[in-house]
Amino acid sequence: MTHASPGRLGLPHLAGCPDCGLIQRLPDRLAPRAAAECSRCDAVLRRGRRDPLGAPLALALAALALMLAALALPLLTIDIRGRSLATTLPGLPLAFDRPGFQELALLTAATVVLLPVLRLLLLLAVLLGLRLADPPRGLHRLHRWYWALRPWAMVEVFLLGLFVAYTRLVAMAEVEVGPALWALGGVMLAMCAADAAQDPRATWAALEAGGATPGRAPLAGPRLIACTGCGLVNAAEEGTRCPRCAHVLHERRRGSVGQAWALVAAATILYLPANAYPVMTVTYLGRGTPHTILGGAEDLLAAGLWPLALLVFIASIAVPVLKLLGLSVLLVASRRGAGGRLRDLTRLYRLVDLVGRWSMIDVFMLAVLVALVQAGVLATITPGPGAAAFAAVVVLTMLAAERLDPRLVWDAAARQPARDGSPA
Ligand SMILES: [Zn+2]
Ligand SMILES: [Zn+2]
Repeated sequence: MTHASPGRLGLPHLAGCPDCGLIQRLPDRLAPRAAAECSRCDAVLRRGRRDPLGAPLALALAALALMLAALALPLLTIDIRGRSLATTLPGLPLAFDRPGFQELALLTAATVVLLPVLRLLLLLAVLLGLRLADPPRGLHRLHRWYWALRPWAMVEVFLLGLFVAYTRLVAMAEVEVGPALWALGGVMLAMCAADAAQDPRATWAALEAGGATPGRAPLAGPRLIACTGCGLVNAAEEGTRCPRCAHVLHERRRGSVGQAWALVAAATILYLPANAYPVMTVTYLGRGTPHTILGGAEDLLAAGLWPLALLVFIASIAVPVLKLLGLSVLLVASRRGAGGRLRDLTRLYRLVDLVGRWSMIDVFMLAVLVALVQAGVLATITPGPGAAAFAAVVVLTMLAAERLDPRLVWDAAARQPARDGSPA
């Protein structure tokens, strides 16, 4: 086995596919914008980038400046019979700050403000740290957290929820869009661009070269294990720590099937109250009307806003059901094997992983509505018990998709080579 050359850890010319587990050789050079794809399942293993350390730094600085503006300026202003109410981004989570809804307040604050800001600070710390003559130890940890937190920073989902809330508010009162909204749109674009401009393998190589990694000796062992923390392939023993990022090395996520099943079961149970109970009660001219999630989509349809009705229906009703079914199919296949449909199942996994967070649209819409209308003269909107149950379904299915190990589907198929579905 070719082992690490002096001063270099692991086998940097190899990559383990995160979707199917195949360990393969990466091209030595990758032109900017070119992609290296998995030879078995087409997952993108690496993308070439022109300036993987400089461009994200500029974009992260821009995103942070825009975020500060978004936090300070008014987001939406509403006029109800001459009374003007402005809401700011930090004020939104406070709308949920009433008994029984603190979890929603915390979830909104975390996913819309705290985690996006934290991600930007982590990225800036890593990229600025790498510019120092002697990069500080521990940067490897910040870089790992930066990528781990990615699905939980939901600025773009929030903006869509805000848009749906806006279309409902204009039916009730005069609504003015504040400058924070444009700033937040800028944050979203700059953060997406900062993620896309990076090449994590290049950053890890720079961290290693700069001495910002734990400084462990290269490993030796019987199996090739791709680190899930930093992607480095090591010849190592199961359960040892990655020499570059200190993450514990496991060939496959341990206990993932049982944990994912438990999360799917909990989410399935909560799906019932999430749809049966009202997510909000709108009190208008002294009369209170409870609204369920399905009712919300119906209201939009009745108002002639069918594209939005379709969006809310897909994001809030169809996606959670498809996620629960998709996760169950993948979990069964990772134990029993999957016949010849391995690539399709891998595509299903990517879809489940990608769309899950968009179901938060309804929760964010509710936060905006409650925040803006609660002190109104004519109308009040209060969150209902369905909202917390619904948010829990979204979070639990996201956690289940994170726990699930898609590589097990391919492993299970490889264990039964005699069947028609032998892997390619
Ligand atoms: Zn693959
Ligand atoms: Zn690692």
